Amino acid sequence: MQHPLPLSVYKFGGASVKDAAAIRNLHGILQQHPAGQPLIVVVSAMGKTTNALEQLFHLAHSGQDYRQPLEALRRFHADVAAELLPQAPRDEQGLPACGAGEASLAALLQQLGDRLGAVSKGEYDRQYDQIVSYGELLATCIVAAATGARWLDVRPLIRTDHAWREARVDWATTERHLREQVLPLLGQGVVLTQGFLGGTSSGQTTTLGREGSDYTAAILAYCLGASSVTIWKDVAGLLNADPKIFPNPVRYPEISYQETIEMAYYGASVIHPKTIKPLAVRGIPLYVKSFLDPGAAGTCIHDCKHAGLVPAFIRKTDQCLISFEARDLTFISEENLEVIFGALAQLRLKINLMQNSAISFSVCTDWHEYRVRKLLEALREQFTIYYNTGLELYTIKNYTPEAIRELTQGRELLLEQRTRQTFQFVSRTTPPSS
Ligand code: ASP
Ligand code: MG
Repeated sequence: MQHPLPLSVYKFGGASVKDAAAIRNLHGILQQHPAGQPLIVVVSAMGKTTNALEQLFHLAHSGQDYRQPLEALRRFHADVAAELLPQAPRDEQGLPACGAGEASLAALLQQLGDRLGAVSKGEYDRQYDQIVSYGELLATCIVAAATGARWLDVRPLIRTDHAWREARVDWATTERHLREQVLPLLGQGVVLTQGFLGGTSSGQTTTLGREGSDYTAAILAYCLGASSVTIWKDVAGLLNADPKIFPNPVRYPEISYQETIEMAYYGASVIHPKTIKPLAVRGIPLYVKSFLDPGAAGTCIHDCKHAGLVPAFIRKTDQCLISFEARDLTFISEENLEVIFGALAQLRLKINLMQNSAISFSVCTDWHEYRVRKLLEALREQFTIYYNTGLELYTIKNYTPEAIRELTQGRELLLEQRTRQTFQFVSRTTPPSS
């Protein structure tokens, strides 16, 4: 069943809900949407809340005192809610009435406190998801109350497996859930839900990977047959470089799914890498627009052809370069590689770049301390392993000689690779320029 009206999916990230003023701005954008036309809004955690929750969880899991940061997180949400809902009655703790029942602000904060108290040693990733998911639950509770949108719990709808922190979607079940339960709600006002979250068949919360709210928007759009997705950002669209890192970026007015997938894969932080495929499969255009200038054109990502794109500069920080040498000084063989790949896959360490020589094999991965240590433990007997942390991986897509010169100047390259379209290198983290 296709919904008769075109459905739009909007996604608002942390920066677009970082305080009361940002949420008012979001409300203004929703009000521009034609009344009666179906709209689903996906919201992620406010500002840097996910990082704060990660920190809280880390403290709880390692048996340290987390009361102060928990109180700070509580205050932050309560203050924003109070500012947005000045008329709302207060409860005995001074919290404004916001949301209802189990999904009210007071209830969510209480649950978060209880769950932190119940965190036990072990099962790091599973427990992480149960705690870190509160960022989105709290944010959507407040934004729904402030905008009058209908709050929807995404966890029973997006069904995933048990791959905690990077859960994989069960598409058939998710599509059925969404069509049965969400289609009937559309067109009767804005529906608002959490990004980043899913749930297992046994009702436990999962997360889809950091910055996964974009992916949520794509999942909803795919399953509900949306006519477009718009990601609202603090930049003017999809740029060829992150303006925080590279000066004078240019905006792509339009760009193909394929190019975008590659840029996201290399670490362009503008869109979560898993977002594009479901949209490409169903031909749903993805707009990237600025929430600071909602009328501006932004970027349209769709099925298009283009030649001679300007080079894109991408930096991935917090990288780790691991080199393996076979202990018996044999060549790095397919059998050895199989063992290494197997261990990487099992620990869910993604290879961002790899290179091999006769007796050594090197991979660049994101620095997950716990997982890397496990990897070393698992492979210590067979390989001598060296690793460096505090590195950056740079990629220039559609490179030119000038672009390479500009970026590599004055840097020590620990590893370098060039294909027809892409130039990549690993180097030490540049100290922040003062
Ligand atoms: N709040 C989550 C994060 O910071 C998900 C997202 O922002 O998309 O990773
Ligand atoms: Mg975010």
